[in-house]
Amino acid sequence: MNLKLKKILYLPHPRGFCAGVDRAINIVELSLEKYGPPIFVRHEIVHNPWVIKDLESKGVIFIENLRDAPKGSRVIFSAHGIPKSVLIEAKAKEMPFIDATCPLVIKVHNEAKRLYRDGAHIFLIGHEGHPEVIGTMGQIPLDAITLIQDKQDVKKLKKINYKKVALITQTTLSVDDTKEIIDELKCIFPNIIQPPKEDICYATTNRQLAIKSIASKCDLIYVIGANNSSNSLRLVEVGKRSGCDETYLISDISEVNWKLVEKKQKIGLTAGASAPDILIQEFINELNQLYNVEIKKISVADENITFKIPRELSE
Ligand code: SF4
Repeated sequence: MNLKLKKILYLPHPRGFCAGVDRAINIVELSLEKYGPPIFVRHEIVHNPWVIKDLESKGVIFIENLRDAPKGSRVIFSAHGIPKSVLIEAKAKEMPFIDATCPLVIKVHNEAKRLYRDGAHIFLIGHEGHPEVIGTMGQIPLDAITLIQDKQDVKKLKKINYKKVALITQTTLSVDDTKEIIDELKCIFPNIIQPPKEDICYATTNRQLAIKSIASKCDLIYVIGANNSSNSLRLVEVGKRSGCDETYLISDISEVNWKLVEKKQKIGLTAGASAPDILIQEFINELNQLYNVEIKKISVADENITFKIPRELSE
Protein backbone atom coordinates (compact mmCIF):
# COMPACT_ATOMS: atom_id res chain seq x y z
CA MET A 1 0.00 0.00 0.00
CA ASN A 2 1.32 3.47 -0.91
CA LEU A 3 1.22 5.60 2.23
CA LYS A 4 2.83 8.64 0.68
CA LEU A 5 0.79 11.83 0.58
CA LYS A 6 -0.70 12.62 -2.81
CA LYS A 7 0.47 15.70 -4.76
CA ILE A 8 -0.54 16.95 -8.18
CA LEU A 9 2.30 18.46 -10.19
CA TYR A 10 1.35 20.78 -13.04
CA LEU A 11 4.03 21.00 -15.73
CA PRO A 12 3.23 23.68 -18.29
CA HIS A 13 4.83 23.62 -21.72
CA PRO A 14 6.80 25.44 -23.12
CA ARG A 15 9.26 25.99 -20.30
CA GLY A 16 13.03 26.21 -19.95
CA PHE A 17 15.62 26.69 -22.70
CA CYS A 18 14.71 28.74 -25.77
CA ALA A 19 16.42 28.62 -29.16
CA GLY A 20 18.59 31.70 -28.43
CA VAL A 21 19.92 30.26 -25.17
CA ASP A 22 20.53 26.88 -26.76
CA ARG A 23 22.49 28.51 -29.58
CA ALA A 24 24.57 30.70 -27.23
CA ILE A 25 25.61 27.76 -25.03
CA ASN A 26 26.37 25.70 -28.13
CA ILE A 27 28.61 28.47 -29.43
CA VAL A 28 30.65 28.43 -26.21
CA GLU A 29 30.92 24.64 -26.12
CA LEU A 30 31.91 24.39 -29.79
CA SER A 31 34.49 27.16 -29.28
CA LEU A 32 35.99 25.21 -26.38
CA GLU A 33 36.22 22.14 -28.62
CA LYS A 34 37.71 24.02 -31.54
CA TYR A 35 40.06 26.45 -29.82
CA GLY A 36 40.55 24.90 -26.37
CA PRO A 37 40.41 26.76 -23.05
CA PRO A 38 40.59 29.44 -21.90
CA ILE A 39 37.70 31.04 -23.77
CA PHE A 40 36.63 34.46 -22.53
CA VAL A 41 32.93 35.29 -22.51
CA ARG A 42 31.85 38.88 -22.04
CA HIS A 43 29.04 38.83 -19.45
CA GLU A 44 27.20 35.64 -18.40
CA ILE A 45 26.50 33.85 -21.67
CA VAL A 46 22.93 33.37 -20.39
CA HIS A 47 21.57 34.34 -16.98
CA ASN A 48 21.77 31.07 -15.09
CA PRO A 49 24.25 30.15 -12.32
CA TRP A 50 24.16 26.41 -13.09
CA VAL A 51 25.11 27.03 -16.72
CA ILE A 52 27.85 29.48 -15.71
CA LYS A 53 29.41 27.08 -13.19
CA ASP A 54 29.29 24.23 -15.69
CA LEU A 55 31.07 26.28 -18.37
CA GLU A 56 33.62 27.63 -15.89
CA SER A 57 34.51 24.05 -14.98
CA LYS A 58 35.26 23.45 -18.68
CA GLY A 59 37.62 26.41 -18.97
CA VAL A 60 35.44 29.44 -19.70
CA ILE A 61 36.35 32.74 -18.04
CA PHE A 62 33.49 35.20 -17.69
CA ILE A 63 34.42 38.89 -17.76
CA GLU A 64 32.38 42.10 -17.68
CA ASN A 65 34.92 44.27 -19.54
CA LEU A 66 37.17 43.42 -22.45
CA ARG A 67 40.04 45.02 -20.52
CA ASP A 68 39.81 42.05 -18.11
CA ALA A 69 41.11 39.71 -20.84
CA PRO A 70 44.65 39.88 -22.25
CA LYS A 71 45.01 41.67 -25.61
CA GLY A 72 44.34 39.32 -28.50
CA SER A 73 42.25 36.85 -26.43
CA ARG A 74 39.39 35.03 -28.09
CA VAL A 75 36.07 36.36 -26.77
CA ILE A 76 32.40 35.50 -27.12
CA PHE A 77 29.62 38.04 -26.67
CA SER A 78 26.63 36.89 -24.60
CA ALA A 79 23.11 36.16 -25.88
CA HIS A 80 21.88 39.55 -24.59
CA GLY A 81 23.80 41.55 -27.19
CA ILE A 82 26.36 44.32 -26.99
CA PRO A 83 26.51 48.04 -27.76
CA LYS A 84 28.48 49.02 -30.86
CA SER A 85 31.26 50.42 -28.67
CA VAL A 86 32.17 46.90 -27.47
CA LEU A 87 32.56 45.69 -31.03
CA ILE A 88 34.83 48.64 -31.80
CA GLU A 89 36.88 47.94 -28.66
CA ALA A 90 37.28 44.23 -29.54
CA LYS A 91 38.54 45.15 -33.00
CA ALA A 92 40.94 47.75 -31.60
CA LYS A 93 42.34 45.16 -29.16
CA GLU A 94 42.65 42.60 -31.98
CA MET A 95 40.46 40.13 -30.10
CA PRO A 96 38.98 37.45 -32.34
CA PHE A 97 35.31 37.37 -31.38
CA ILE A 98 32.18 35.32 -31.92
CA ASP A 99 28.85 37.02 -31.40
CA ALA A 100 26.34 34.80 -29.54
CA THR A 101 23.69 37.54 -29.46
CA CYS A 102 20.28 35.96 -30.01
CA PRO A 103 19.07 36.62 -33.58
CA LEU A 104 15.83 38.00 -32.11
CA VAL A 105 17.81 40.62 -30.21
CA ILE A 106 19.75 41.44 -33.40
CA LYS A 107 16.37 41.99 -35.07
CA VAL A 108 15.60 44.69 -32.47
CA HIS A 109 19.08 46.25 -33.02
CA ASN A 110 18.38 46.41 -36.75
CA GLU A 111 15.00 48.02 -36.15
CA ALA A 112 16.63 50.68 -33.96
CA LYS A 113 19.23 51.45 -36.64
CA ARG A 114 16.63 51.61 -39.44
CA LEU A 115 14.25 53.84 -37.46
CA TYR A 116 17.12 56.14 -36.53
CA ARG A 117 18.16 56.42 -40.19
CA ASP A 118 14.52 57.27 -41.01
CA GLY A 119 14.68 60.18 -38.60
CA ALA A 120 12.48 58.82 -35.81
CA HIS A 121 13.03 59.37 -32.13
CA ILE A 122 12.85 55.92 -30.54
CA PHE A 123 11.20 54.86 -27.30
CA LEU A 124 12.68 51.63 -26.00
CA ILE A 125 10.44 49.87 -23.47
CA GLY A 126 12.71 47.92 -21.15
CA HIS A 127 14.51 47.68 -17.83
CA GLU A 128 17.35 50.06 -17.03
CA GLY A 129 20.71 48.36 -16.62
CA HIS A 130 19.72 45.08 -18.29
CA PRO A 131 22.50 44.09 -20.72
CA GLU A 132 20.02 43.74 -23.59
CA VAL A 133 18.82 47.31 -23.03
CA ILE A 134 22.40 48.59 -22.85
CA GLY A 135 23.16 46.75 -26.10
CA THR A 136 20.09 48.05 -27.94
CA MET A 137 20.57 51.65 -26.77
CA GLY A 138 24.18 51.41 -27.83
CA GLN A 139 23.28 50.87 -31.50
CA ILE A 140 22.44 54.54 -32.11
CA PRO A 141 23.37 57.91 -30.57
CA LEU A 142 21.97 58.17 -27.03
CA ASP A 143 20.02 61.38 -27.73
CA ALA A 144 17.98 59.51 -30.37
CA ILE A 145 16.55 56.95 -27.94
CA THR A 146 14.61 57.22 -24.67
CA LEU A 147 14.18 54.35 -22.24
CA ILE A 148 10.63 53.82 -20.98
CA GLN A 149 10.34 51.56 -17.95
CA ASP A 150 6.71 52.09 -16.96
CA LYS A 151 3.59 54.18 -17.48
CA GLN A 152 4.99 56.96 -15.27
CA ASP A 153 7.84 57.42 -17.74
CA VAL A 154 5.29 57.84 -20.55
CA LYS A 155 3.52 60.67 -18.69
CA LYS A 156 6.78 62.64 -18.62
CA LEU A 157 6.86 62.67 -22.44
CA LYS A 158 3.75 64.82 -22.83
CA LYS A 159 5.66 68.07 -22.89
CA ILE A 160 8.14 67.09 -25.59
CA ASN A 161 7.41 67.75 -29.21
CA TYR A 162 8.88 65.03 -31.45
CA LYS A 163 8.38 65.13 -35.24
CA LYS A 164 8.41 61.38 -35.74
CA VAL A 165 8.42 58.69 -33.08
CA ALA A 166 8.73 54.92 -32.98
CA LEU A 167 8.80 52.22 -30.35
CA ILE A 168 10.77 49.05 -29.83
CA THR A 169 10.95 46.79 -26.79
CA GLN A 170 13.23 44.49 -24.84
CA THR A 171 12.54 40.87 -25.86
CA THR A 172 11.84 39.48 -22.38
CA LEU A 173 9.16 41.78 -20.96
CA SER A 174 5.74 41.03 -19.52
CA VAL A 175 3.40 40.87 -22.51
CA ASP A 176 0.50 42.43 -20.53
CA ASP A 177 2.51 45.28 -18.92
CA THR A 178 4.08 46.15 -22.25
CA LYS A 179 0.70 46.32 -23.95
CA GLU A 180 -0.47 48.82 -21.30
CA ILE A 181 2.63 50.99 -21.80
CA ILE A 182 2.17 50.87 -25.59
CA ASP A 183 -1.48 51.93 -25.20
CA GLU A 184 -0.35 54.93 -23.10
CA LEU A 185 2.25 55.85 -25.70
CA LYS A 186 -0.38 55.66 -28.45
CA CYS A 187 -2.59 58.11 -26.51
CA ILE A 188 0.17 60.72 -26.66
CA PHE A 189 1.58 59.76 -30.07
CA PRO A 190 -1.26 58.28 -32.19
CA ASN A 191 1.08 57.95 -35.19
CA ILE A 192 3.86 56.18 -33.33
CA ILE A 193 5.60 53.60 -35.54
CA GLN A 194 5.45 50.07 -34.11
CA PRO A 195 7.59 47.08 -35.07
CA PRO A 196 5.92 45.05 -37.86
CA LYS A 197 6.32 41.96 -35.66
CA GLU A 198 6.37 41.98 -31.84
CA ASP A 199 9.80 42.49 -30.27
CA ILE A 200 8.86 40.41 -27.22
CA CYS A 201 10.11 37.06 -28.42
CA TYR A 202 8.16 33.86 -29.01
CA ALA A 203 9.86 32.14 -26.04
CA THR A 204 8.92 34.87 -23.55
CA THR A 205 5.34 34.98 -24.85
CA ASN A 206 4.89 31.20 -24.79
CA ARG A 207 6.33 30.74 -21.28
CA GLN A 208 4.02 33.46 -19.95
CA LEU A 209 1.00 31.85 -21.67
CA ALA A 210 2.05 28.49 -20.23
CA ILE A 211 2.27 29.68 -16.61
CA LYS A 212 -1.07 31.49 -17.05
CA SER A 213 -2.65 28.20 -18.07
CA ILE A 214 -1.80 26.54 -14.73
CA ALA A 215 -1.75 29.47 -12.26
CA SER A 216 -5.39 29.35 -11.13
CA LYS A 217 -5.19 25.56 -10.66
CA CYS A 218 -2.12 25.68 -8.36
CA ASP A 219 -1.66 26.32 -4.62
CA LEU A 220 2.05 26.89 -5.15
CA ILE A 221 4.29 27.45 -8.19
CA TYR A 222 8.04 27.31 -8.41
CA VAL A 223 9.77 29.07 -11.30
CA ILE A 224 13.30 27.84 -11.78
CA GLY A 225 15.50 30.67 -12.94
CA ALA A 226 17.83 33.40 -11.76
CA ASN A 227 17.48 36.78 -10.07
CA ASN A 228 19.09 38.52 -13.02
CA SER A 229 16.98 36.67 -15.62
CA SER A 230 14.35 39.09 -16.89
CA ASN A 231 12.09 36.43 -18.38
CA SER A 232 12.18 34.35 -15.15
CA LEU A 233 11.24 37.36 -13.02
CA ARG A 234 8.37 38.12 -15.39
CA LEU A 235 7.12 34.53 -15.04
CA VAL A 236 6.85 34.99 -11.28
CA GLU A 237 4.84 38.20 -11.77
CA VAL A 238 2.55 36.54 -14.33
CA GLY A 239 2.01 33.52 -12.05
CA LYS A 240 1.00 35.76 -9.15
CA ARG A 241 -1.26 37.93 -11.27
CA SER A 242 -2.94 34.99 -12.96
CA GLY A 243 -4.18 33.34 -9.79
CA CYS A 244 -1.34 31.83 -7.76
CA ASP A 245 -0.18 34.27 -5.05
CA GLU A 246 2.40 31.77 -3.94
CA THR A 247 4.60 31.81 -7.03
CA TYR A 248 8.30 31.84 -6.18
CA LEU A 249 11.60 32.03 -8.03
CA ILE A 250 14.19 29.43 -7.08
CA SER A 251 17.59 28.81 -8.62
CA ASP A 252 17.46 25.05 -7.88
CA ILE A 253 15.96 22.52 -5.45
CA SER A 254 18.21 23.71 -2.62
CA GLU A 255 15.89 26.73 -2.37
CA VAL A 256 12.62 24.78 -2.22
CA ASN A 257 10.63 25.34 0.96
CA TRP A 258 9.67 21.71 1.63
CA LYS A 259 7.58 22.64 4.67
CA LEU A 260 5.44 24.75 2.35
CA VAL A 261 5.28 21.98 -0.25
CA GLU A 262 4.03 19.62 2.47
CA LYS A 263 1.04 21.92 3.07
CA LYS A 264 0.07 22.34 -0.60
CA GLN A 265 -1.58 19.78 -2.81
CA LYS A 266 -1.42 21.29 -6.30
CA ILE A 267 2.05 22.41 -7.26
CA GLY A 268 3.17 24.03 -10.49
CA LEU A 269 6.69 23.90 -11.88
CA THR A 270 8.17 25.86 -14.75
CA ALA A 271 11.50 27.40 -15.75
CA GLY A 272 12.76 30.56 -17.38
CA ALA A 273 14.30 30.49 -20.86
CA SER A 274 17.85 30.20 -19.51
CA ALA A 275 17.23 27.41 -16.96
CA PRO A 276 18.35 23.90 -17.99
CA ASP A 277 15.99 20.93 -17.90
CA ILE A 278 18.22 19.06 -15.43
CA LEU A 279 17.03 21.46 -12.69
CA ILE A 280 13.38 20.70 -13.46
CA GLN A 281 14.17 16.99 -13.43
CA GLU A 282 15.88 17.23 -10.02
CA PHE A 283 12.76 18.80 -8.56
CA ILE A 284 10.49 16.12 -10.05
CA ASN A 285 12.76 13.31 -8.78
CA GLU A 286 12.81 14.74 -5.27
CA LEU A 287 9.03 15.24 -5.24
CA ASN A 288 8.57 11.65 -6.44
CA GLN A 289 10.78 10.39 -3.61
CA LEU A 290 8.69 12.17 -1.00
CA TYR A 291 5.16 11.95 -2.35
CA ASN A 292 2.76 10.03 -4.52
CA VAL A 293 2.87 12.41 -7.49
CA GLU A 294 0.36 12.68 -10.29
CA ILE A 295 1.83 14.73 -13.15
CA LYS A 296 -0.47 16.86 -15.27
CA LYS A 297 1.11 18.26 -18.43
CA ILE A 298 -0.50 21.28 -20.09
CA SER A 299 0.81 22.52 -23.41
CA VAL A 300 -0.11 25.89 -24.88
CA ALA A 301 2.25 26.01 -27.86
CA ASP A 302 4.61 23.92 -29.97
CA GLU A 303 8.14 25.23 -30.31
CA ASN A 304 10.37 24.01 -33.09
CA ILE A 305 12.50 27.09 -33.68
CA THR A 306 16.26 26.65 -33.97
CA PHE A 307 18.93 29.21 -34.85
CA LYS A 308 22.02 28.52 -36.94
CA ILE A 309 25.38 28.73 -35.27
CA PRO A 310 28.11 30.82 -36.94
CA ARG A 311 29.82 29.12 -39.90
CA GLU A 312 33.20 29.38 -38.18
CA LEU A 313 31.97 26.75 -35.70
CA SER A 314 29.70 24.65 -37.87
CA GLU A 315 32.28 23.77 -40.52
S1 SF4 B 1 14.45 34.69 -24.52
FE1 SF4 B 1 13.95 35.18 -26.64
S2 SF4 B 1 15.33 36.86 -27.21
FE2 SF4 B 1 16.15 35.91 -25.33
S3 SF4 B 1 17.59 34.39 -26.08
FE3 SF4 B 1 15.63 33.33 -25.85
S4 SF4 B 1 14.67 33.47 -27.90
FE4 SF4 B 1 16.32 34.97 -27.83
